[in-house]
Amino acid sequence: MSFSLHGIAVSSGIAIGHAHLASHTVLEVAHYEVPKQFIAAEVARFDAAMDATRQELTTLRQNKSQQAMAEIDAFLNLHLMILDDEHISQTPREMIERERCNAEWALKVQMDHLVESFEAFEDAYLRERKADVVQVVERVLKRLTGQPNKVPQAAQHGGSTILVAHDVSPADLIQLKPGQFSAILTDLGGATSHTAIIARGLNTPCVVGLHRARELIRENDMLIVDGEQGVIIVEPDKQILAEYKLRQDQIELERKKLRRLKAAHANTLDGTEIELYANIELPDDLADVKESGATGIGLFRSEFLFLNRDELPDEDEQFEAYRAVVQGMDGLPVTIRTFDLGADKQPNSAKRVARNPALGLRAIRLCLAEPYLFRTQLRALLRASHYGNMKILVPMLSGLAETRQTLQFIDGVKQELDAEGMAYNREIQIGGMIEIPAAALALNTFAKKLSFLSIGTNDLIQYTLAIDRTDEEVAHLYDPLNPAVLKLLAHVIDGAKRIGVPVSVCGEMAGELAYTRLLLGLGLRQFSMHPALLLAVKQRVLTTSLPEIAALTQKILRAEDPMKIREFLDKLNVA
Ligand code: PEP
Ligand code: MG
Repeated sequence: MSFSLHGIAVSSGIAIGHAHLASHTVLEVAHYEVPKQFIAAEVARFDAAMDATRQELTTLRQNKSQQAMAEIDAFLNLHLMILDDEHISQTPREMIERERCNAEWALKVQMDHLVESFEAFEDAYLRERKADVVQVVERVLKRLTGQPNKVPQAAQHGGSTILVAHDVSPADLIQLKPGQFSAILTDLGGATSHTAIIARGLNTPCVVGLHRARELIRENDMLIVDGEQGVIIVEPDKQILAEYKLRQDQIELERKKLRRLKAAHANTLDGTEIELYANIELPDDLADVKESGATGIGLFRSEFLFLNRDELPDEDEQFEAYRAVVQGMDGLPVTIRTFDLGADKQPNSAKRVARNPALGLRAIRLCLAEPYLFRTQLRALLRASHYGNMKILVPMLSGLAETRQTLQFIDGVKQELDAEGMAYNREIQIGGMIEIPAAALALNTFAKKLSFLSIGTNDLIQYTLAIDRTDEEVAHLYDPLNPAVLKLLAHVIDGAKRIGVPVSVCGEMAGELAYTRLLLGLGLRQFSMHPALLLAVKQRVLTTSLPEIAALTQKILRAEDPMKIREFLDKLNVA
């Protein structure tokens, strides 16, 4: 029987396949001996975790939405029954007392026994119930250990597999290969979280912020993932399945049509030339950039070279990576951002995660606080600049003092290379990202020191609206159309023009069709986005007349009522 779940669609496309639940590290529990005098406390700890889980399941049953199917009810009842079964609620207690082991271990051993005996059942239905036992035990173990979940590294089913996880970190996600999963679903996350951005990079439909998908979906369930609408249909009936297969074919057809635009110039109907650049995370993404017909790379998030490894890349390794990208682009511009580590992108070597990482030592702040790391990267970048058309982009500048400090630092590294006789592009352009409202507002005070600007709307919106971009609880408040955001965008685009500094947008907004005309109307002429989105944006540019959208854009900018803003935006996007 079928039911549906709704989340935030972050990477488009339709996927049909079987669920694979990301395993939880909670199942890798430690085993230790508990001293005799603490046995009673250990049993009490076990009982408390059981009680909390019982409470959690009961609340889940009470709070499930009106539309939720009877199956969800039945499934929650089943989990409560399993929890209260003496094999789960009593046997581990006895084992703690008898063997003086920790509660997690007792529960895990008992779970393994049960799973083994379930496997012996001839009846397929009963055999499948072992997944329920595992889920219930995982829930209790989570209470006992409070450990986070981890993404699996390989699909386990034949055919098309859909990853269902509570959460996946960007670092885990870049380890997946394109096509390894045909869709990715997570309970946590917002539309511009880096997890979502990487999923787009994998060209894989992705829905985040599903809240309870990991609990409600079972291993091997048949799923339809609608990456356009953010809908998941679990165990769909034949008719729905046929409809979505048709939709999948249509999407493929639309993609094929778009491919014909690859070589076309992105000019508006009135003949204004627009630059459409690509965002990349790793040198391997170059193939996608080529496919997209991008006229350059507007953002290379170099920090991804630093993730998933114990030793950070040295100067030569970085140099090779940067050189490969600039040479691979054959003279087209390549904008490499100095590492934006911190927040949700922590290298393995990070000593501690800040209390409030998005507001902590991140991006240029970290670079300036770790001069050795920054110097190594700058040396590698400058050396690679000799081999192509490279620009350097500095993330999260907050104002004049930081800009000065950064430019001085870069000059210092240049002098070092001069002294060593190393070749580099002496005229290399240094740009800054506008991601902090203070920087947007005080643009006049420092932008003229830079060769170009790039607006990071993901962070600019996060910091303007005080909404953690990774937190699904506040994802609905993340709004590029908020009047404050629009005013800041207009202010930066106008300001840059007045100062005479080129400006682009490289946040997710640049790749969203709904905002293409709005951004053009605000005066933007350079967009940088995920390569998979570029041809659709190009099509929109080709069908836009700047004189025709001017008045409506101004109306959007002046409107105060969010409903009006949306109404005007819809009009702007018609035809
Ligand atoms: C942004 O903030 O919009 C941006 C492009 O940078 P990132 O998403 O990597 O923070
Ligand atoms: Mg950013």
